[in-house]
Amino acid sequence: MTPLVRFAPSPTGYLHIGNARPALFNWLFARRHGGRFLLRYDDTDIARSKVEYAEAIAEDLGWLGIVPDLVIRQSERLAIYDAAAERLRAAGRLYACYETADELDRRRKRQLARGLPPIYDRAALKLTDEQKAAFAAEGRKPHWRFLLEAGEIAWDDLVRGPSHVDCASLSDPVLIREDGSYLYTLPSVVDDIETGVTHVIRGEDHVTNTAVQAQIFAALGAAMPVFGHHNLLTTASGEGLSKRLGHLSLRGLRESGVEPLAVAALAVLVGTSDAVRPVASLDELAGLVDLAHVSRAPAKFDEHELEALSARTLHQMPYEAVGSRLAESGMETSEPLWLAIRGNLTKLGEARIWADIVRGPIRPVIADPAFAATAAGLLPAEPFDATTWKSWTQAVAASTGAKGKALFMPLRQALTGLDHGPELAGLLPLIGREKALKRLAGESA
Ligand code: GLU
Repeated sequence: MTPLVRFAPSPTGYLHIGNARPALFNWLFARRHGGRFLLRYDDTDIARSKVEYAEAIAEDLGWLGIVPDLVIRQSERLAIYDAAAERLRAAGRLYACYETADELDRRRKRQLARGLPPIYDRAALKLTDEQKAAFAAEGRKPHWRFLLEAGEIAWDDLVRGPSHVDCASLSDPVLIREDGSYLYTLPSVVDDIETGVTHVIRGEDHVTNTAVQAQIFAALGAAMPVFGHHNLLTTASGEGLSKRLGHLSLRGLRESGVEPLAVAALAVLVGTSDAVRPVASLDELAGLVDLAHVSRAPAKFDEHELEALSARTLHQMPYEAVGSRLAESGMETSEPLWLAIRGNLTKLGEARIWADIVRGPIRPVIADPAFAATAAGLLPAEPFDATTWKSWTQAVAASTGAKGKALFMPLRQALTGLDHGPELAGLLPLIGREKALKRLAGESA
């Protein structure tokens, strides 16, 4: 059977590095197992869901390299959920409750004060038809809870292995709000059934939901998919990531210029036994990520580690992976230029600096005109290749006696106008003889 996985964000904010993880774990799982990836917008919370967030999510996933095989929106599927809710009602598994948030809160506090677990006491189950009619007459609308069966729910988790939750410790979950809107719990199960989702991979903050949803699958007469719950990401100091951490949003990371492949690699490999290393593609990453080996301890996200990984990702990036991105940004590029400069970049955007320097005009820095003139006189005839720099500098050293920094720095300053940068062995053939001679003569070229 072809696996079908899904990533099911609520479009109530921008994706950040933490909630990009389930997207990536699902995508990589699909890649690894020849499966398909469904993007499902859990947008039944009409007040908080926004179209612009949904669009941003698709765009941010695209930046990471994730292109869904299909997309659905829960807000367009309400009739299907209504039918499922009706079946649960008919089976006695969905019951109307009239408590206000205040009442529930007071009840919880009383339970806690008496040392009892704050579990919903199912008072609504005892309401008579007259009492319900009286609430309705008062204008109170019911919310609807799912009647949990007692007992343990067990499953073999893709990440955590054999797992279980005792449902006696859970409140009957609210599936439908007072305003008739659905929380994602029921629609999620209905969609997983209807779309044929085979594997549900999500954060371990959903473990309890899995027990609840397992009962809903059973109540709707469907088999449960395979579940996997990955660890959660914390900041380097161990705090949870919240949607407010704007700079760790995928947009923020994109704007800061880090490489999407580095974000993806760090997001899924952080905290694993594999050292986080640069990868050349999501396919390569898919081969490295085995859910059974994802750590169960929280994973710490370190921005500096991301920056370093991003640089290392660039240093080994083949031209095919980057040429069109450079061209899109309006840069004149070529493979030799890329290979000459990539090892010196921390951000892709810096490539333009070196392209401009190679093309010129630049203002050369000539501290010692006589030295520069000697060097110019020794510059070999074209064609230049990767060995030209070495033979030229050997000749300059032999003629002037300069070595080390005293030899290389004036040549670098003359040829690039800067005192740091990529290996000149790669740059010199790109600059070419004519421009090199002018620069050595102190002319802007
Ligand atoms: N909308 C839910 C969330 O973002 C989906 C969880 C799930 O994957 O089932 O938390």
